[in-house]
Amino acid sequence: MFGGVEGGGTKFVCAVGSGPEDVRYQISFPTTTPEATIGKAIEFFRAVQAHTPLAGVGIASFGPVDPEPTSPTYGYITTTPKPGWAQVDFRGPIAAALGVPVGFDTDVNGAALGEHRWGAARGLDTFAYLTVGTGLGGGGMVNGRLMHGLLHPEMGHIMLPHDWEADPYAGYCPYHGDCWEGLAAGPALEGRWQFKAEQLPPGHPAWYLEAHYLALGLVNIICILSPQRIIMGGGVMKQAHLFPKIRQKVQSLLNGYVQKAEITQAIDEYIVAPGLGDRAGVLGAIALGQAAAEAARGT
Ligand code: ADP
Ligand code: ZN
Repeated sequence: MFGGVEGGGTKFVCAVGSGPEDVRYQISFPTTTPEATIGKAIEFFRAVQAHTPLAGVGIASFGPVDPEPTSPTYGYITTTPKPGWAQVDFRGPIAAALGVPVGFDTDVNGAALGEHRWGAARGLDTFAYLTVGTGLGGGGMVNGRLMHGLLHPEMGHIMLPHDWEADPYAGYCPYHGDCWEGLAAGPALEGRWQFKAEQLPPGHPAWYLEAHYLALGLVNIICILSPQRIIMGGGVMKQAHLFPKIRQKVQSLLNGYVQKAEITQAIDEYIVAPGLGDRAGVLGAIALGQAAAEAARGT
């Protein structure tokens, strides 16, 4: 059995299991202070450990984080604008309390690993996983390994063409204003249209502009990464009507340049929702726990 912590800016989900068909225990609670929230996660896993041994625990965290195991701040949440959560050691207290191997990565890399093991990225070695929710983030794999480098990808903060006449909304990113996240994550929809994203009806002009921004970002990711598939999750993507709008815009922006049938003919299977649905995040965290256990065993 493995534990998983999906640490979100709004809520935490903790679960214990071995895969999508076998999630034994699960709990969810709002994200408050780091001490109280991380403490609740520890309490949950300790209660499970009293009767069920855990071979590893995975943490898939909102970011930015330090994912570099040799760094003195490995497992920390770093420069987040979320009050109280900057420079917080997320992994350390959990590893100390539970005494098992603890894997740690971004929420989107966690979800990508889960999708690779059990979902829409099975059999692929280079793909992107994006979430469009309270923020906009991306991760995934290159050549079969989760994307790391200098830090981890910050796909949500790429810069896009912004036609200020057509869209005078300045964007909400505290660092960049109108980066991709600033223009296209859930709070941007609310800031621009004065309605929560979930309240905007499918035919509303908001969704055509949203599909335009999402497609612009995807075209950049396609050109830089050459992913074999792009998986899009998060609250905003629950609007299923966005998928056909995005796919069509991606095709028209690429304008026939990338000549692969996946894009020109079978784009419905190229830009897709998570195979694990709403559970991609927490199952991804369990997958990180499984990977940590495997790494500790040297397998
Ligand atoms: P988080 O990013 O905190 O993990 P979500 O992925 O649910 O959580 O993202 C929350 C954002 O998604 C909010 O901005 C909310 O307005 C938007 N959202 C949530 N559900 C929907 C929905 N059904 N349709 C459109 N937008 C949604
Ligand atoms: Zn930004």
